Amino acid sequence: MKKLMAANWKMYKLRGEAGQTAADLVAALAGKLPADREVLVIPPFTALGTTGEALAGQAGFALGAQNFYPSSQGAFTGEIAPEMLLDAGCSYALAGHSERRHILGEDDAMVGRKVGFGLKSGLSMILCVGEKVEERKAGELEAVLRRQIEAGLAEAPADIAPEKLAVAYEPVWAIGTGLTAGPEEVAEAHALVRSMLVERLGAVGGNIRILYGGSVKPGNAGQLLGIDNVDGVLVGGASLEAGSFAAIVTA
Ligand code: PEP
Repeated sequence: MKKLMAANWKMYKLRGEAGQTAADLVAALAGKLPADREVLVIPPFTALGTTGEALAGQAGFALGAQNFYPSSQGAFTGEIAPEMLLDAGCSYALAGHSERRHILGEDDAMVGRKVGFGLKSGLSMILCVGEKVEERKAGELEAVLRRQIEAGLAEAPADIAPEKLAVAYEPVWAIGTGLTAGPEEVAEAHALVRSMLVERLGAVGGNIRILYGGSVKPGNAGQLLGIDNVDGVLVGGASLEAGSFAAIVTA
């Protein structure tokens, strides 16, 4: 399966800037997108339209959403449904990003509902997991990953197609801090995630993409992508500028 190179634009960019950055990214990668890589751009909701227009018809590029509410419609003021995201051109969505867990108070059960409902709605889901620094120091890495993966996949169908699900390992202490997990730390965590996916999903778990996220930059992306079980990256800060993200995609 292709490596998934995902740009999470978080709460940055107005519509015009987002469309321009997406167009610049397409231009920067014209004729240079490696055949084994897929690019995913995840803008804020208001910029899905302009970003989607810039990516439309471009082979190897997809549009994603940062969040949704796990219901098809209803009285959920301020929320957005998977069907609305599909209608806006999204094929992917995130669930369980650390900023939603730790700033917005999203718990494991809600993350599991989102992954299950998103998959049933036809979205491909990226389940984000990762430990806080105090959890790592307390030797709880494996327990945290197990809890987040078990809860995150609790409502996922057992017969899932591997391309419909990815897991992003993002140590909380490495997100937006400039600190990147070292190669041994990445290899250890990704091997743990892989074994938990195989335990939960059998052979399919061996083919589910595991992305690394946490201060990925053009200068470290190549090394990270060379580590066993690293099947792509989820990039925040360094994805905001087209040239920098294009350098990561081709690293
Ligand atoms: C992220 O948003 O998932 C992320 C990893 O951010 P950054 O690359 O800025 O650390």
